[in-house]
Order: sequence, then structure tokens, then C-alpha cells
Amino acid sequence: MAVEGSRVAALGDAEALRRQYGDRARLVDLRGRLVIPGLIDSHIHALRAGLTWTTDVHWENVASLQDGFALIRDACRARPPGTWVRVTGGWHFRQLREARLPTVDELTHVAPHHPVWVQHLYDAVVLNRAAMERLGPNGPSEGILRGFPDIWGYGSKLPRPALEEQIRGTQAFLHELNRYGLTALIDAGGFGQEWPRDYAAIEFLYRSRQLSARVFWWMYPPRGQERESIETFLGQVQRDPDNLWYRPLGIGEQPYHPVFDGDGLASPPPVFSADTLAGWHALVQQILAAGWRLTVHACRNQTAKQLLASWEALAKEWPLEDRRLSFNHLEDVDGETVTRLQAIGAGIAIQHRAAYWNLDAFRNPQQAQHAPPLRMLWESRIPLGAGTDAAIATHYNPFHVLSWMVTGRAVGHPVRHEEHLTREEALTLYTSGSAWFSQSEHLLGRLAVGRPADFAILNQNYFTVPEDTIRDLYAVATWVDGRPVFWDASHITIPGL
Ligand SMILES: [Zn+2]
Repeated sequence: MAVEGSRVAALGDAEALRRQYGDRARLVDLRGRLVIPGLIDSHIHALRAGLTWTTDVHWENVASLQDGFALIRDACRARPPGTWVRVTGGWHFRQLREARLPTVDELTHVAPHHPVWVQHLYDAVVLNRAAMERLGPNGPSEGILRGFPDIWGYGSKLPRPALEEQIRGTQAFLHELNRYGLTALIDAGGFGQEWPRDYAAIEFLYRSRQLSARVFWWMYPPRGQERESIETFLGQVQRDPDNLWYRPLGIGEQPYHPVFDGDGLASPPPVFSADTLAGWHALVQQILAAGWRLTVHACRNQTAKQLLASWEALAKEWPLEDRRLSFNHLEDVDGETVTRLQAIGAGIAIQHRAAYWNLDAFRNPQQAQHAPPLRMLWESRIPLGAGTDAAIATHYNPFHVLSWMVTGRAVGHPVRHEEHLTREEALTLYTSGSAWFSQSEHLLGRLAVGRPADFAILNQNYFTVPEDTIRDLYAVATWVDGRPVFWDASHITIPGL
């Protein structure tokens, strides 16, 4: 492959390219390593994770509670007593040798003088004594928070890093993603991330040309102020369809909070009132009339069925194919919903979230084997994107998702997922499949002459390593727009760098 400027200039036989480019080119010898198109996460909470990435303690890769405690001790030593020390999800207790959550007493012993918050996905937060005191007499008396409302309720009271730290954190997180071959992402918005307040860091990195991955983003309206803030957004923000570095896509992943359907498939799905659905319809109409797009969180098929009626009605007023509306997650989607989505040109962004769920998040073990129904979705040919939903609900590593799609091996429960894809199919979803959601699949997601040179060089061959080791793959170098944004000098030599 020859790269000229930001684009792929030629593909073909190495000897022929060497003759053609001769001394003009800098030669990077990959020593037979595999090059893949840059990975694109079509649903990740990267901007939110970035805000606290450098102040959080990370348990994503710890193998035991003792290792986790050591990281908390290090953080305590590095900051004044009384400063919060926080672990914010992205790990599962079953990855720990002890296979359990820490206790309040353990955390109190590890950190007597710092308030500590250890969050496990979205289902629990374990505090220490200092944190319980800090949250006050109305805080959780047992030192454990459970469930979405409590976790976000208390979480929003914790201090936020200053803008400078947010910028450092965002840059660090993008760099971490580059280490796993990611070259672009679609930010999903999300709880605790409000537009425009929480977009200042990424905006700064874009304006100062310091992004190391392409960032497409959904505007996330504050809860209860959806109508006003969306109106402000529609009035202020310019669509920028040719911008391949930083581009607003529209409103998501929660344009209208009353239709949020939580996580998991065990409880009966929500039934929305006529008023709620009228509110949803009005908002969708407002967004579409202004020419913008939207995407929405729905883990339940039943939620999609209720929300879709509005899209179908509006599809009679506007051609919606070019809007590429989408649902995210849909772990129990059925064929009928897929057909309805296809009829209006909509797609589904899928992630390995269900691999992190305990068995009690499903109706029964059988359901866990088919959530989401990857094989059926692939064969339906509906537009599909792959991603993580990181950095709280899952690990941000794209190779964990590719591994799960191919092997079906879950983290949170012992049942093996049966809806397998081939390695090639999984990679297609993570590249051109995801690019569809940013309306850039004609440029991103495939290596071809004339397209941007976004690619990753992997440590081992994704197509031939044993299936069980796909999750351990990483990039030795990652290129975006024709230049290396990450490389590991112990693995690869890039002349001039
Ligand atoms: Zn979601």
C-alpha cells in the first residue's frame, strides 16, 4: 500500500510499488503483519469518559481485587486527603480472581482518608466510609448504591474536573482507543453529558487540531429540557456534511427521556402512555423538519415497536432513507421490527453489552444465547454498526466485541451466545458497517485508492490467530488521515519518527 498525503495512493504488489515510488517514499516494513481498515465504534460514550479519564482509577484490565486496591492506594498517595477517588465501570466482577465486588470495609481499609467510589457497570457502586460521610446523612446507609437512578443521582454530585483536565482526559482516552486500532468513533451522548457544557473539551481538541481519531457526535439534551435545548441546537449548529474529522450528526441517544427503557430484558418492557408518545412524536417532527437526524436508545424490541409508529407516519411526509434513523442496542429485536426498519431505511447499532449481563438480566438462559440475534440481523442485510457502548457498561476494547461476535463467549454469565458471525463479517460491521451511521461509508471503513488512509497494523493476524485469542489483539501502529497517531517503537520502525 502506498500513502500520499492523507489518502491511499496505490494498493498492490510490494515490489511493483517499490519500483513505482522508489526513493520518493518512506518505507515502513511491516514484516508480514496484517493491516486492517481503521476500526469505527458506532456507539461509544467517549466524550463522557474523556472528561474524567485521567482522574478516574481504571479497573478495566485488573485481574484481582488486590490489583484494584493497589491502584486505589496509588491514587490516594498522589492526591490530597479528602479528594475523591473513583472507579467508573468498564469491568466485570467475574474477571477478578475473587469473582466478587469489594466490600465497604475493604475500601475503608485501603483508603481511610479519601472518599472512594467503585462502580460496577450500571448495577452497583461500593463506597468507603469517607465517601458515605461525604454524601451526607441522606446518603446510602449501607454504603452501596444500586441501579441507574441512584448511581446517576449521586454521581452527578461528585466534583467535575476543570476544563484543562477534561481536555487531557479526552486526549488520553482517544489515544487509548488508537492503541486498539480505532480511527473513528460515533459518540452516543448519554446521561451526565449535556450539550453544550460537556462538549467543550472535544471542541477544543478539534479546533486546535489535536484529535487522534475522527469524532462524529450526537447532541445529548439535558433531561427535562429536551425541547428548549434541541431548539437551541437546531438554531445554532451548522450541519457540516463534508467534515470528516469532527461532525455533529443530530440528536441522540436520548432525544426524549420519558421513552428511556433502561437496560436488560428480564422485566416486562415499558408501555408508554399516549401522552408520552405524543411528546416523542412532536420532538421527532421538530428534529426532522429542521433537516437533522436522530438516534435513540432502545434495548427492548417492544420499545422500538412503540416508537417506530411515529417514524413511519413521518416517512410519508419526508423521504427518511437519507436520514438514516437508528436504534441502539435492541438486544431482543425480532424479524418484524427489522422489516419495518428496513422499509424506512433505518439501521441498528449493536454492541457486546449483553455479554456483560448476569443471567438475571434475561428472561431465561435461552434468551441469553440470542441477545442480540447477530446472525439473523446480518442475514437480513439491515444496516448494522458495531461498537462497545463503553466506557461504563462494557470495556472499550473493540477486539473484545470482535471476539464475542465470533466466539459467543460472554463475561457476565456462563451461557454461550449462539449468534456467531465469521471474522470477516464481524470486521465488516466494525468498519464500513459503522461508517454508515456517520454517513461516511463512501470514504471510511475500507482501504481503497483515493480514500483516506485510516488503518491499523495488528500485532498478530486477526484472521488466523486461534479464536480464543482474538480478544488479546492490539495495534502496533494506527494511522489516521495518512499519518501515524499511535505506534509502538518496540514493534515497528517508522523512518523519521
Ligand atoms: Zn444506550
